[in-house]
Amino acid sequence: MTLTLGVDVGGTKILAALVDESGTIHQQVHRDTSSAATKNMVQAVEEIMSLPEAKGVKAAGIAAAAYISYPEGRVEFAPNVHFDDPDLRLAILRSFDLAVVVENDASAAAWGERLFGAGRGIDEMIMVAVGTGIGGGIVIGGELIRGARGFAGEFGHMTLLEGGPDCACGERGCLESLASGRAIEAMAKQKAVEGSAQALLEAAGGDVDNISGELVTVLASQGDEVSKGILGEAGRWLGIGLCSLINSFDPELVVVGGGVAEAGDLLLDPARSVVESRIAGRRSVPEIVPATLGNEAGAVGAAALAMSSYERRQAG
Ligand SMILES: [Zn+2]
Repeated sequence: MTLTLGVDVGGTKILAALVDESGTIHQQVHRDTSSAATKNMVQAVEEIMSLPEAKGVKAAGIAAAAYISYPEGRVEFAPNVHFDDPDLRLAILRSFDLAVVVENDASAAAWGERLFGAGRGIDEMIMVAVGTGIGGGIVIGGELIRGARGFAGEFGHMTLLEGGPDCACGERGCLESLASGRAIEAMAKQKAVEGSAQALLEAAGGDVDNISGELVTVLASQGDEVSKGILGEAGRWLGIGLCSLINSFDPELVVVGGGVAEAGDLLLDPARSVVESRIAGRRSVPEIVPATLGNEAGAVGAAALAMSSYERRQAG
């Protein structure tokens, strides 16, 4: 058994894990991302690499919520996380003798799902990760597609509504501004302020500021019609985005992951029906399924990418 280090630096949490070649996690360390993501990432790596099981680890894959230049492993733009040092690859190399690969978190998660999760054995697939923001990953011909600079798959910043809501990237009307966890929270707060989300406001202790995307999901799953309506609205925008992706990539499978996807069919059914109504007349519609690896997908996928990169280098 070979263990590889996989790290996921997300908007709020860092997961560092020792992962074997079947995608199973053997040890893991959690940290808050806080305002110094790079420093906290290095500390999480130091902690897990000090474990006896880490002896013999040769490669590390880092998945980060950012535009990551490939192969430099540098953060070029990160609307949702503050990196105190953008050179993630160098930050690891300074302290460890490891082969390091840095990937966008959603691309790494897509690869994790392709190898060990919902997309196992599928060579043509796209993944959309709907969390605080929205990321994505593209698998074509059984390979992860990175683009010229490493930025491919940033589906969250496709413009769907010219002049629409503000997006974290600085533009307006991106898919992320319409269907992400943050967008769901904004819709819910707006309704509460207007006085049309009584159950949500009560569940938030009467304070609009306590309303979150998670709360909307909880209430929707308990049957609250307003919350279901908000998730439905996000799901329809997601469906509109998926139509463009399906028309662009002709995938066999669409995997939807990220925290918001835990809402399941409350989000996915409205997306499926938009896709069905917009494209079914012209072509067969690929299945749209939830991711299965949860918040481990990024770390597991990054570890697998790092291991295969290390093996290629040893062989060549
Ligand atoms: Zn955007």
